[in-house]
Amino acid sequence: MREDSDKRWQENRLLASLPDRDLSRLLLQLEILTLFAKEPVYESGEEIYFIYFPLDCIVVLISSVDTDATVEVGLIGNEGMVGATILMGAKNSTSKALILTEGKALRVPAAVLKKEAKRSSRMREVLLNYTNALLAQSAQLAACHRYHTPKARLARLLLMINDRITVSDFRITHDLLADLLGTRRATVTQAVNQLQDKELIASVRGRIRFLDRKGLENETCTCYAIISQQYLTSTHSEASPANS
Ligand SMILES: [Zn+2]
Repeated sequence: MREDSDKRWQENRLLASLPDRDLSRLLLQLEILTLFAKEPVYESGEEIYFIYFPLDCIVVLISSVDTDATVEVGLIGNEGMVGATILMGAKNSTSKALILTEGKALRVPAAVLKKEAKRSSRMREVLLNYTNALLAQSAQLAACHRYHTPKARLARLLLMINDRITVSDFRITHDLLADLLGTRRATVTQAVNQLQDKELIASVRGRIRFLDRKGLENETCTCYAIISQQYLTSTHSEASPANS
């Protein structure tokens, strides 16, 4: 590990929940880097060579329905890792992984992570619990996009972003929001205006500022609570101290 990463790994809650012995082996192999907004971590179908543990950036997983239509299928911040499906045998990314908000991440070669997870059953269990929650998130998002209103979906997405950043605003265009929510730009602008009229957010010059988190919680669909609960359940099953 290089630079200031010897302390910063603690910001990633998944790394922090690994058993000490496994973590110290892994830390030697991690390198810190900056991920810049709008850059892809992986394209859809691309081979996964590195696994990323976000510290203060957010990565969004996007599926293409056809050449024009896209939709978010996962959001990953400092609670998780990008490229988790390699632990389930995947070699290639099934979706595009795009950096939504800029920041630092730690990365490790996929082959190293697979080897370490094979060595320790406890580490494997922790990482697979997370992977399972990520897949559950994806399934919930599919239902969300089918059944819930653009305003409720937008509130849900904003709350998920708010959970993963420490600042009160972030840069995002309505075009990208439309790509994530699988809807037209005009629909997104209308939903943004609805939340803005209630003074829950402010949308100014390509940035969204959070004004009233409680208010957003009143506007979101039930998917937000369901997805949050899935992560809580995945981390609570880490109580066992066993390590192999
Ligand atoms: Zn929903």
